[in-house]
Amino acid sequence: MTTLSPRLLQATPVVVDHARGSYVHGTDGRRYLDFTAGIGVVSTGHCHPRVVAAAQEQVASLIHGQYTTVMHRPLLELTERLAGVLPPALDSVFFANSGSEAVEAALRLVRQATGRPNVVVFHGGFHGRTVAAASMTTSGTRFSAGFSPLMAGVHVAPFPTAYRYGCTEDEATAFALRELDYLFATMTSPQETAAFIVEPVLGEGGYIPGTAEFFAGLRERADRYGILLVMDEIQTGFGRTGRWFGHQHFGVEPDVVTIAKGIASGFPLSGIAASHELMSRAWPGSQGGTYGGNAVACAAALATLDVIEEEGLVANAADRGRQLLDGARRLATDAVGDVRGLGLMVGSEFTGQDGEPDTARAQAAQQEAARRGLLMLTCGAHMNVVRMIPPLVVTEEEIDEGLAIWSDVLTAV
Ligand code: PMP
Repeated sequence: MTTLSPRLLQATPVVVDHARGSYVHGTDGRRYLDFTAGIGVVSTGHCHPRVVAAAQEQVASLIHGQYTTVMHRPLLELTERLAGVLPPALDSVFFANSGSEAVEAALRLVRQATGRPNVVVFHGGFHGRTVAAASMTTSGTRFSAGFSPLMAGVHVAPFPTAYRYGCTEDEATAFALRELDYLFATMTSPQETAAFIVEPVLGEGGYIPGTAEFFAGLRERADRYGILLVMDEIQTGFGRTGRWFGHQHFGVEPDVVTIAKGIASGFPLSGIAASHELMSRAWPGSQGGTYGGNAVACAAALATLDVIEEEGLVANAADRGRQLLDGARRLATDAVGDVRGLGLMVGSEFTGQDGEPDTARAQAAQQEAARRGLLMLTCGAHMNVVRMIPPLVVTEEEIDEGLAIWSDVLTAV
């Protein structure tokens, strides 16, 4: 008999039979409110009828057309359609399948475009599990342990994580930028640095939003030294934070944006966006792959963008996100040291009385919630942050339902 790898770390015993909207239905006959959305993927909810119809129609006409050989209609339409969504300066896109691949594509692009070897990433960042992406990931040793040596040329500077440093956001921002300048003086000169690669909100690192002054500081240094600014929007893009892209909260303009997850409601699709001029500096043939820009995934993405626009899901994410954040803050017990987030990304950090991360209690809360019909994930270096990341279609009543279960869970643990 074949079994699944025992190293997958499945957090709950739930086996899904089918799913619709904000709920998954288990083979145990129970219904679960899904505040994971497949790790922020099913933006339009599970099996949105428009996305299902678009995919079914596409399956019947073309499943796969390898786009370094031939173009196809869904890919060209999606390329054009993204122009109405992405920042106007980022007028060229490249498609891949997973977030990690998009990050690697961005890495190749910035190195080739600048001729510089190094990148600076920010402490607590997560960029994926392929070796290059894992080399740039600093949100937990579990993402890189045991397969060193990692890729060279990666330097790490602080992210303004005020709660962890025990200071204000302004102090954390000033510290992070000061340390970045110190890194430039001691480890990698700015002239050897191709790019900053940063998330607008640390995702796997614990749901910590950056600050406008921090991103302005990165932009200013990028402009001063000819460094490119890559925003990893894989988790924060396509309405998740209550704006189309997370960086738009902070008034900063990136040179490259990575996209994935919410773009296609669950079909594997990712990519990078940059200016045409920058993208044309990639070396010919260095970007591509067998499955990137799959026709069915592109058709699903087109339907996803229609649903996000027509159903007002960006505004819904902002409104429901505020409801969820306020509710989680109101319910926080002594076991919860901090509640934070942006839009429909809300994290509750469990800490012990000594202020140390309380991983056991966070994981007990996650499992207790699943028993009570609410699915959630954990994140953070110590996996002591319980995060809620519902589909963008989530309703006011469903947020209330989730918060009621969360209240019971906090009492129980
Ligand atoms: N970057 C960010 C910000 C992410 O949140 C993730 C996935 N959680 C990735 C990259 C990697 O994406 P994937 O798992 O599709 O490779």
